[in-house]
Amino acid sequence: TKELEVLIIGAGPIGIACALECKKRNWNYVVIEKGALTNSLFNYPLNMTFFSTSEKLEIDDIPFISNNPKPSRTEALEYYRRVVTSNDLNINLYETVSGISKSISEFTVKTDKGMYGTKHVIIATGFYDIPNYLNVKGENLPKVMHYYKEAHPFTLQNVAVVGASNSAVDCALEIYRKGGNVTMIVRDDAIGERVKYWVRPDIINRIEEGSIKAYFNSEITEIRKHEITITTPEGPKTLQNDYVIALTGYRPNFEFLANAGITFSKDEKHIPTYNAETMESNVEGLYLAGVICGGMETHKWFIENSRIHAKLIAEHIEKKVS
Ligand code: FAD
Repeated sequence: TKELEVLIIGAGPIGIACALECKKRNWNYVVIEKGALTNSLFNYPLNMTFFSTSEKLEIDDIPFISNNPKPSRTEALEYYRRVVTSNDLNINLYETVSGISKSISEFTVKTDKGMYGTKHVIIATGFYDIPNYLNVKGENLPKVMHYYKEAHPFTLQNVAVVGASNSAVDCALEIYRKGGNVTMIVRDDAIGERVKYWVRPDIINRIEEGSIKAYFNSEITEIRKHEITITTPEGPKTLQNDYVIALTGYRPNFEFLANAGITFSKDEKHIPTYNAETMESNVEGLYLAGVICGGMETHKWFIENSRIHAKLIAEHIEKKVS
């Protein structure tokens, strides 16, 4: 068991921001990350562009220079990678935290590689690891995906894109433009309200002209090898189908938080309990940082507005340490 001041779980942008704050204060800290560095960003669509301008994705005021106002995934990977390597941050990759337990004044953090003793824990695990499943027959077929990478495999294919938020809309447009035959299956009666204002007219016009088909107030009920069945306001329909890309959102690992002793709001938002001024959870010494703080409201926090969590936490720990 190693003695630490702070252990940070997750090397996303916010976990990295927390590590910078620890390093500045000369604390003994480590970041434990189960995948690659900034694993969520690594898994984003290859050609995605951030909706934020690059300066809003900066952490600790380290300049993020990008060629266009809104950086690409590749540029963001380059930025966060350079922040980590230039600052020589202490990060263990490909190590998964399985549990956190607390004795009177210390935490024991268990991973698939060992145990750590630490005075403070920061959970910055995001929400990109667990998709909101459709829970329909056939969802486990290999043609069904919950993450979208690039359009090329879908050229000349019948593709059903489920959902109508930013990810689904970007995916539908990209596949349509690379020669795929796209049908959107949308549970609500319209394209999502939060779809980027510069993309919304594009998707609405493609649907109106019939380039992309869309069924609103509709849901998939069954997926088979070459077909899907959907319910529509006009009754059930069967569509020829080669691939289903379900982009219906993701959710935090609530079980992991609950096992660490964190409580939640009683409503459907399932917001973990924390003090908004210090980011300390209901467990003393255990902090929450980044998009995990929103519970089921995964659109509430993003890099832009949650990078501040790192400083709030470090300042609170600092008061206790000194
Ligand atoms: P993440 O980046 O999700 O980091 C969490 C890390 O924790 C991951 O690397 C994960 O592997 C790791 N982890 C999880 N569980 C464990 C465990 N048990 N043990 C060890 N490690 C673990 N935000 C913006 O501000 N601007 C944008 O333009 C923008 N565009 C986006 C576009 C897309 C397509 C998506 C999906 C999101 C976008 N966001 C944007 C949101 C933003 O990218 C995320 O909010 C950001 O990644 C959140 O950072 P985070 O550090 O809180 O969490």
